[in-house]
Amino acid sequence: MSEERAEVVVLGAGIVGVSTAYAARERGMSVVLVDRCEPGSETSYGNAGIISSGSISPLNNPSLWKALPKYLTNRHAALRWNPAWAVQNAGWIARFLADSAASRLRPRATALHGLIGASAELHRQWIVKAQAGHRIRETGWLRAWRSDAVASAKQEQAFLSEYGIASELLDRQAISALEPGIVPVYKVGLLHTQTASVDSPGAVVKAYARMFASAGGDVRQADVVAIVPDSNGWRVALADGEILARHVVVALGPWSADILRPLGYRVPLAFERGYHREFKPNPARPLRRPIYDIDGGFIMTPMEQGIRVTSGVELTGRDAPSSFAQLDQVVPLARGVAEFGDAVGDTWRGSRPTLPDGLPMIGPAPRHAGLWLAFGNQHIGFTTGPATGAAIAALIGSAPPPYDVTPFAPSRYLS
Ligand SMILES: Cc1cc2nc3c(=O)[nH]c(=O)nc-3n(C[C@H](O)[C@H](O)[C@H](O)COP(=O)(O)OP(=O)(O)OC[C@H]3O[C@@H](n4cnc5c(N)ncnc54)[C@H](O)[C@@H]3O)c2cc1C
Repeated sequence: MSEERAEVVVLGAGIVGVSTAYAARERGMSVVLVDRCEPGSETSYGNAGIISSGSISPLNNPSLWKALPKYLTNRHAALRWNPAWAVQNAGWIARFLADSAASRLRPRATALHGLIGASAELHRQWIVKAQAGHRIRETGWLRAWRSDAVASAKQEQAFLSEYGIASELLDRQAISALEPGIVPVYKVGLLHTQTASVDSPGAVVKAYARMFASAGGDVRQADVVAIVPDSNGWRVALADGEILARHVVVALGPWSADILRPLGYRVPLAFERGYHREFKPNPARPLRRPIYDIDGGFIMTPMEQGIRVTSGVELTGRDAPSSFAQLDQVVPLARGVAEFGDAVGDTWRGSRPTLPDGLPMIGPAPRHAGLWLAFGNQHIGFTTGPATGAAIAALIGSAPPPYDVTPFAPSRYLS
């Protein structure tokens, strides 16, 4: 058993925890980053790798009401839900739906716009500094419709332009010019031109963790068992020792609520589970950027190992058995667009950690000095991890965060 001391202990080495640890280290603090796995092995490994400038509207926006009838059938690839989970979590669902009211859209979009803007800037700096610059592609993100959805695409474009976010409306021909390797199945496209993507989000997080270690940070592989307040700050109990620290940051992604329960915090965190499977690309017909097939309900991204097809949302318990129904539904559709070969590797499952208002928690725990919460980054955690971490590091150092963090205050749900 070992005992260590640090100014800051960051729990969780996904994109959020690694970013927090690095940002705190950059401010000169002594920092230990703890994870039971290697950095970037869980949710931050399996995502679609999009650094999305335009994802300022959470999933529970006013258009959700229109889509609800098709989702209630529980057959659409974009959203499946477990009826038993829905009954047990009726309160969470009611809050989630209440936040999709039109009056709640712009305040949340403004909040996310600040977070995303700061984060995309940090990603672009850090990825070069971390010697992983070859992994980022500035080719945008194509959101594409098989149906004649010009009106929807124009509405999205107008909304984005209110926030100064650029996009290009494309017809079938323009999509073919942009992506000559794909079958021309899409009638309408909206290219988010300021969005970037990476060819391995897990490798990027690992590169950021190495950058943290090179800057003098300490990366520790251990299971975190509990966090206990004591007279000098915090005692972090590990399976094989403990760390004493003035500040503890909970950045455990979908596992964050568990560690806080013994302290009396009941966090309304749900799990929007998703899956990916990767396929051998056809080198004669390359994919140049991530494509979101909106009618099909999936994303495909060119990755280091192949073409990664990611599924929509499955609302159920975090640890419930896997169901490959959504992936099995969309893979033939994706194959009809990108003409890829056999699957490589195993099917992956992860959980997008989501609070009812779709905003992460970024800030102090209400009843415990030195306890900081950094989780709930839903569908855009890979994008927003760096600025989530930068804000927490600033707050710990009593400095102003790089954007307005008040909408992300944990006190909106916890007391
Ligand atoms: C299918 C899918 C596609 C997505 N696509 C995108 C995308 O294109 N762009 C985007 O921006 N976001 C995307 N996301 C969302 C994004 O992946 C997540 O929001 C983000 O990865 C969350 O990061 P995190 O650091 O909070 O959590 P994680 O990456 O899950 O990190 C939490 C860490 O805590 C560790 N941990 C947990 N419990 C313990 C314990 N007791 N002791 C020690 N360690 C522990 C875990 O090992 C893990 O490493 C997608 C998500 C999914 C599921």
